[in-house]
Amino acid sequence: MPRSAIPHCSFCGKSNRQVNRLIQGNDGAYICDECTQICADIIARELHTEAANTAAALPKPKKIFATLDQFVVGQDDAKKTLAVAVYNHYKRISLPPSNDGVDLQKSNILMIGPTGSGKTLLVHTLANILNVPVYIADANSLTEAGYVGQDVQDILTALLANANGDLPSAQRGIIYIDEIDKIARKPTSISRDISGEGVQQALLKILEGSTVQLPAANSNAVGNFNANPPTAPFNTNHVLFICGGAFIGLDGIIEQRVKGNALGFGAHIHSKDDTADILKEVMPDDLLKYGLIPEFVGRLPIIVTLDALDENALIQILTQPKNALIKQYQKLMAMDGAKLVFEDDALRLIAQEAIQRGTGARGLRSILERIMRNVMFEVPSVGEETVCTITREDVLFNQEPTLTGEDGVPKIAERI
Ligand code: ADP
Repeated sequence: MPRSAIPHCSFCGKSNRQVNRLIQGNDGAYICDECTQICADIIARELHTEAANTAAALPKPKKIFATLDQFVVGQDDAKKTLAVAVYNHYKRISLPPSNDGVDLQKSNILMIGPTGSGKTLLVHTLANILNVPVYIADANSLTEAGYVGQDVQDILTALLANANGDLPSAQRGIIYIDEIDKIARKPTSISRDISGEGVQQALLKILEGSTVQLPAANSNAVGNFNANPPTAPFNTNHVLFICGGAFIGLDGIIEQRVKGNALGFGAHIHSKDDTADILKEVMPDDLLKYGLIPEFVGRLPIIVTLDALDENALIQILTQPKNALIKQYQKLMAMDGAKLVFEDDALRLIAQEAIQRGTGARGLRSILERIMRNVMFEVPSVGEETVCTITREDVLFNQEPTLTGEDGVPKIAERI
């Protein structure tokens, strides 16, 4: 038999008689058991070095807090808890395996806070600070496997895509599942609750840390080594899961427990400040009453609460963060040689309107967009050295903006 007809390892050249196993790949290539072991060792060493480098580069909690502070207004308790939690998470995953019996357990995070209070912004900022890929999922669209909607495993595929197919990087990424309160078990449901409890069950495995087989086509890291690789193993053990939601009505459940309020759930209407204080008292039991199942709550041991944003916080959000909305518009106007100024009263009114809309800071952008429409229409035609002042009346009545020169003399846009 000619040598070429005898199967031999394409890496070390040994024949099938010299090794225990020879595995066939595409195009007649083979790899032996010894070479697969060497490959596994190389990958393990690389992963460990990578993890050790990550640990060395990991910013300390105070540094994480300070960077969050540049982008997120208020929410100091949440920032502190998150800074510590993510620091510990990434420290834990950089540890080499040890046999001292001390096992640092995975600690995913639950964020409770009203719409538009900065939950998603915190997650994005954290991912930027840590330089890890992130995927934001919406619990509303999740379904149990077999039902129409997004499968739980699709979240991992999406994280892998956001990591440009880099599997090791995706496996250290962050997944934020928004609107998690929407998959609470409905108290009225008699039969099995597909949309709620089933999805919680489906999420348990990936939250805890397990290997999920993903369609290999989505991963560059998989290559075409195996003859027929339908899937790529994605290990979620090092993925940080953060779940978030507004949990409307949870304050009533907590209050009932804390104060023994005999009138019961929903009997008391709180101010927003009261609600935030009550939410800080949340215990796992309250979340069970809300409709989360015990195993699910057990996998989210770190609970972070966020406050509703008041008028002053909203004004700060408009003006202070590194990429504050008003700074963005000022930059845009500066490109046309104009200086954009908001009077204090105008800012206050915008904040008040956002509060009325009840969508937190989320409403600010569309309010500003409305006000700025006239400005952005007029200013480019006025010429350099223009000052555009937004007054209280501009916000109230949507009127033409006041345009002046640096000297305060009114300017008029040229007619076309
Ligand atoms: P949530 O996830 O809590 O519903 P988001 O984080 O998506 O809210 O907030 C929506 C937008 O409002 C953000 O993109 C950001 O511009 C702004 N925003 C919300 N909260 C804050 C905050 N605390 N500091 C700065 N900006 C904020």
